[in-house]
Amino acid sequence: MRPRQLIARAADLLFPLRCAGCGAFDTPLCARCGADLVPATGPGRCGFCSAAWDGEGFCPRCFGWRELAGVRAVYEHTGAARALVHRLKYERYRALAPLMANRLAAAAAALPVDGWVAVPLHRRRERERGFNQAELLLRRAGLPPAPARLRRLRHTGSQVRRTAAERAAALAGAFACDGPPLDGLRIGIIDDVITSGATVRECARALRDRGAREVWAFSFTRASLDLARPDSPIDH
Ligand SMILES: [Zn+2]
Ligand SMILES: [Zn+2]
Repeated sequence: MRPRQLIARAADLLFPLRCAGCGAFDTPLCARCGADLVPATGPGRCGFCSAAWDGEGFCPRCFGWRELAGVRAVYEHTGAARALVHRLKYERYRALAPLMANRLAAAAAALPVDGWVAVPLHRRRERERGFNQAELLLRRAGLPPAPARLRRLRHTGSQVRRTAAERAAALAGAFACDGPPLDGLRIGIIDDVITSGATVRECARALRDRGAREVWAFSFTRASLDLARPDSPIDH
């Protein structure tokens, strides 16, 4: 095991389990914070990309997302749900993964998907972190894996504080699909959070180039970008 992975494992053992919302001990999420989570499903959400949307049909954020059949998520990227995503990823707090995967599993399994892939990290990023959070969620959720997998071709750097347009430009052609052809298969992509959609759209392109018939994207949280400020940098 590499030193960074050892540190990550040690952190899992040393730090007591605490609620991501309020810090209460012995639980990854207490009942009160759990009740405050905002679902990314049902009324008030876009029927295509699951972002917050009070209008009819689809919202303007996902206009022209032809690579995808749709985006689904469990929660809006706010409050304790946002804290869970951040603690898993940036604090490498892997003890949160079973809870998050649990909440994701049933809804993801209900989608018309034959096999699942995780959004890949660049090798360098995965070495730094010790694990890939999307891969961890996929494995823990027990969803059937696709016969092929995605690979990140280049290190695109952090997307934090880039605008949606900058993210799309940075990620263009950043993924490849390895393994047998996906001819006729319906593939699902798992990520921890979907924000501008640039990452999952590029992943979907690589999967469709490999023959996938239909591609869905599914995340633990959906960050609904502010429709009034489409060109502003995104701070997560
Ligand atoms: Zn709490
Ligand atoms: Zn939408």
